[in-house]
Amino acid sequence: MIQEKRNVLVIGGSRGIGAAIVQRFAEAGDLVTFTYAGSTDAAAALQDKTGAVAVRSDAADRKAVISAVSSQGKLDVLVVNAGALVLGNPLELDADAVDRMIDLNVRAPYHAAVEAARKMADGGRIIIIGSVNGDRMPFEGGAAYALTKSAMQGMARGLARDFGGRGITVNVVQPGPTDTDMNPANGPMSEAMHSFMAIKRHVRPMEVAGMVLWLAGPDAGVVTGALHTIDGGFGA
Ligand code: NDP
Repeated sequence: MIQEKRNVLVIGGSRGIGAAIVQRFAEAGDLVTFTYAGSTDAAAALQDKTGAVAVRSDAADRKAVISAVSSQGKLDVLVVNAGALVLGNPLELDADAVDRMIDLNVRAPYHAAVEAARKMADGGRIIIIGSVNGDRMPFEGGAAYALTKSAMQGMARGLARDFGGRGITVNVVQPGPTDTDMNPANGPMSEAMHSFMAIKRHVRPMEVAGMVLWLAGPDAGVVTGALHTIDGGFGA
């Protein structure tokens, strides 16, 4: 049987892990739309390379993220990848920056997932990119980021119950250190991060994308409310 093209929306897809996810779905023959906030050139280049449609939309704005999802019509797969990383001494961090991170990392996936469930046919897939830091935060300065990534865990478990009757799955993919602009493999914290890992190298964005593709695929229809860690053993 030839599988129909799926309608896939990636929230935050212009760079890094999101761009790899866009590329992999496009290579699989799916109809892909991705949002981005600021990287216009990267978004245009990815659109040209993959045929995916780029839409500028700030996921930290609740109305904008809901509108980005609802304007898709019928949706088969939602991936919420957009995220920010605010690290530092909690006594000194800018409270507004922390709240913006919470808006993007927590409120956006929740509202996007709920809106997607309104639009999805039975059997749809919702995949949220969390972090191994939702399970383990082995250095100082990461409390607020870890807060956001552990919030996704409860969210996915609850929404999996809410939407399971329709066969819609809700899962979290939890990367460890992954080679992107946010966390380059040659960055200043690499050595410290690798010291926590069993396989001492950064994850490649395409490796994360491969896990996402599997969760969206036919073999993962009963995988739901679950955390899928891909971290070189960072959390082991
Ligand atoms: P990057 O900073 O490299 O890329 C972030 C992507 O999200 C960009 O495409 C960016 O688009 C988009 N984005 C950021 N803010 C917004 C916004 N307000 N609205 C819409 N899109 C937005 O990050 P990574 O690829 O490294 O991270 C992706 C996800 O993976 C995040 O959720 C992150 O927390 C998580 N993660 C990353 C790890 C790592 O080591 N890299 C480890 C564990 C988890 P634009 O530039 O156009 O704004």
